[in-house]
Amino acid sequence: MTDPIAAKGLAKRFWEKKPLAQMSPAEWEALCDGCGKCCLNKLEDEDTQEVALTRVACRLLDDATCRCTHYENRHQFVPDCIVLKPENLDTHAYWMPLTCAYRLLWQGKPLYDWHPLISGDPDSVHTAGISVQYGTVSEFDTPFEEWEDHIIEEPT
Ligand code: SF4
Ligand code: SF4
Repeated sequence: MTDPIAAKGLAKRFWEKKPLAQMSPAEWEALCDGCGKCCLNKLEDEDTQEVALTRVACRLLDDATCRCTHYENRHQFVPDCIVLKPENLDTHAYWMPLTCAYRLLWQGKPLYDWHPLISGDPDSVHTAGISVQYGTVSEFDTPFEEWEDHIIEEPT
């Protein structure tokens, strides 16, 4: 198995040594585990800011790959898709999935062993059952009134 960290020229276990704010763009991008969970629609209690993930996926998510089908020009289709950066992580971390690498590091927690940066295998996020692979329903076919029926428990 090729070591994705070496392949990308990133320092070994850089996320344990560098604060998020000091990471290079390549390091920042590599933190994403490819789970696709941030592309699920969420229900938020306005009073408590409690967030529940639903299996109702954004129209651009391909749930086979768990990737955005139009990542580069996604804002043409989904104008409010967040561009997560070190500068706005404080604002968004509360609604990010519990296993999201950005949220974990922001909370001072370690990454899980199934994270591709640790396992060396981009599929380990799927085999560990963390990703949304083959587990979503379309937002086109699912009226908002039914989203509550699709709330999912997050594996942690
Ligand atoms: S939830 Fe976090 S780790 Fe998962 S795809 Fe989204 S940004 Fe990447
Ligand atoms: S536009 Fe793409 S990156 Fe944004 S939520 Fe939808 S699938 Fe995810």
